[in-house]
Formats: sequence, C-alpha cells, structure tokens
Amino acid sequence: MHRRILFSKEQIDKRVNELALEISRDYQGVEPVFVGLLKGVIFFFSDLLRAISIPARIDFIRAESYGNSMESSGNIRITKDVEVDLRSKHVIVVDDIVDTGLTLSHIVDVVRSRGAETIKVCALIDKMERRTSNINIDYWGFRIEKGFVVGYGLDYAEKFRCLPDIYVLEEKVNNDTVKGD
Ligand code: 5GP
Repeated sequence: MHRRILFSKEQIDKRVNELALEISRDYQGVEPVFVGLLKGVIFFFSDLLRAISIPARIDFIRAESYGNSMESSGNIRITKDVEVDLRSKHVIVVDDIVDTGLTLSHIVDVVRSRGAETIKVCALIDKMERRTSNINIDYWGFRIEKGFVVGYGLDYAEKFRCLPDIYVLEEKVNNDTVKGD
C-alpha cells in the first residue's frame, strides 16, 4: 500500500484555526460542551480546542464501527460514554471523518437522548461519496469525494495515526509487472 500526501500539516493548521474562529464567533456568550469521538479525533480535537477563544468544556465518547477493515459494518456500539451532564447544554460533536454518516448520526441521537439543548456537528473531513444518512455537518475542515485517508489521528488497522500530515492510501501500481505481462 502506497500513501500520497493529501493535506499538509500547514494546510491542516490553517483550516483548524479558521474553524476555531468560526465556532468561537458562533458561540459567543455560550459555554459549549465539545464531545470528541475517539480515537481518530485526538489531534484535531486538541488543536481545535486550543485555538477556541471562548470558555468551553470537553468530553469524549467512543463508538466501535469499523474494526480493522475499510468498510463500515453499520453496527455501532458505544464503548466509552460521555461523563459530563449534557442536560440543557449546547453540544458540539467533533469527529475525524464522516463517511456513510451512520456513526455520527448514532452519536447525535445519543447526545440528544441525554437532554442536550442544541447539537452541532464538526468534522475534520467530510467524505461525501458513500453518505447514506442525511446528517448535516455544520463545520467541516476538508471535503473529499472518496479515498481512504490516514494520519493526523486517522489510522488503518492502528497504523499511521501519529503522522502529522494527512495521506490517502493507494494500491501501488507496479509498472514493470503491468508492462511485462
Ligand atoms: P461512517 O459511520 O461515517 O461510515 O464512518 C465513520 C468512521 O469510519 C470514522 O470516524 C472513521 O473511524 C472511519 N473512517 C471512515 N472513512 C475513513 C477513512 O478514510 N480513513 C480512516 N482512517 N477512517 C475512516
């Protein structure tokens, strides 16, 4: 598997700061609760939250949906729940990448069932091709059509998470083999 750079650390930093500015403006006078979807969100979440200029609370939730494959199983199970009381709170759910949207819509339902007053969604990457749920992404960093991306928290079978840039994984085409056969 070959990896090609898609978004550099500099591009990510710039976009994250823009998002932080936008969210800080929209939530003036409100103390929102940011709920990060583990584990892929860690670097995005920590960069975003340090760039936010308003008081905020943070918490995390973890859902299992992918295992080691590149396909969504559609079965979503909460493996780590939120601990902050969300009743009457203004919640922003922060995710790494939205693909089918099934995970995120499930999480939004969970947050709603905990009594949140408002819920918005922020995702670093909006991958649009396979969207099956009609979830609205209020804040997004990058939009891509398709591809499997890694780095900046995103993994493939737990690999590549700690890379500072974002890459797309590609099957390596061996030209010699193609020409030779
Ligand atoms: P969805 O439920 O939207 O289909 O899947 C969302 C989750 O699948 C993401 O939070 C992420 O864990 C995983 N996922 C979807 N697309 C990608 C991708 O391109 N790269 C990586 N590393 N994970 C992905």
